[in-house]
Amino acid sequence: MKFNTKTIHGGQKPEPITGAVMPPVFMTSTYAHTAPGEPQEFEYSRGGNPTRTALENSFAAIENGTHGFAFSSGMAAIDCVLRTLSPGDEIIAGDDLYGGTHRMFTKLFQKYGLEFIFVDVSKEVRVAAAITKRTKLVWLETPTNPLMKIADIEVICTAVKEVNPAILIAVDNTFATPYLQQPLTLGADIVMHSATKYLGGHSDIVMGALMVKDAKLAKELHFIQFAAGAIAGPMDSFLALRGIKTLHIRMQRHCENGRAVAAFLKNHSKVEAVFYPGLEDHPSHGIAKKQMKDFGGMVSFRLKDASEEATFKFLKGTKLFTLAESLGGVESLVNHPVTMSHASIPEAARLKIGITASLIRLSVGIEDIADLLTDLENALHT
Ligand SMILES: *Cc1c(COP(=O)(O)O)cnc(C)c1O
Repeated sequence: MKFNTKTIHGGQKPEPITGAVMPPVFMTSTYAHTAPGEPQEFEYSRGGNPTRTALENSFAAIENGTHGFAFSSGMAAIDCVLRTLSPGDEIIAGDDLYGGTHRMFTKLFQKYGLEFIFVDVSKEVRVAAAITKRTKLVWLETPTNPLMKIADIEVICTAVKEVNPAILIAVDNTFATPYLQQPLTLGADIVMHSATKYLGGHSDIVMGALMVKDAKLAKELHFIQFAAGAIAGPMDSFLALRGIKTLHIRMQRHCENGRAVAAFLKNHSKVEAVFYPGLEDHPSHGIAKKQMKDFGGMVSFRLKDASEEATFKFLKGTKLFTLAESLGGVESLVNHPVTMSHASIPEAARLKIGITASLIRLSVGIEDIADLLTDLENALHT
């Protein structure tokens, strides 16, 4: 099956009793056993629920994996991966991560004896060079949030596995989605998503996903999902599955609009710099072109006037672009990383990688591009 078919049919079959084309929302916590010690396929909904199973099969299909897992949030999915590790283990991670991921690494898991080494993943030599005997996991995000840096997944996976094939490589694929890139096919072991974003696509759920291609790793993750309990509920699973069925057509428009917004900002007299992997002068444009089908709907930029007054005027000046956290929904959003999505990262760490107070991040939606550009133009002139 091609990707655009997999989003609709991947891992799906009509519901066996009624033939319902969409799986019903199985609002049940438990299931009748036929005899003591003889459960049927489903036993208790923390372990499995038919609506969630339908979604998890879709997760696996769209990322070219064999198993998928649905969690109550993206953070719960990351938490599940970290629980495979033990005190003393080292994790090499990108230095430009989603703020909540950085917070979980440094404020939650460091105290359990996990060590995190942050490197610039757009310079792949640094990833391999940071490996020690204790390295167990490499955590990549590409494109990165909010600076849109690109990591070469295939080159990094090859380099890491050459040093030690047992090191797991996980890729947070939230920004790109499997429409644009499929990390499992490029050599990664685990794909993670905040399904809250593009997979759900309608800003109506909070959910996380993990996808893998190895049965042993799948068993371990399923055990943690079941034992720790941060599962996605049946209603949210239904909504996410419905969202995925239009992922490919939504992404096509997100990319079209993203490209147009990036070009518009690039040529605007009030704009200092634009961060978008589709621009030819992006430092990793070549890798992005090789690795991704298109360049996505996330665009970051800085105004020439870097004052707080000018930045805030823009942030308050848009009408269609709603000032809000999150991304990846059908509607356009504008975000100020320093006060919003990345506020939990200490200022020194933020400045070191270039997240300044004048940085603005756009999640370009699928509205008519003419209206979006008019909105940006008006906000730039307020
Ligand atoms: C939002 C986000 C997360 C966290 O996911 P939640 O669903 O909010 O818990 C992780 N990584 C990236 C890249 C994100 O954008």
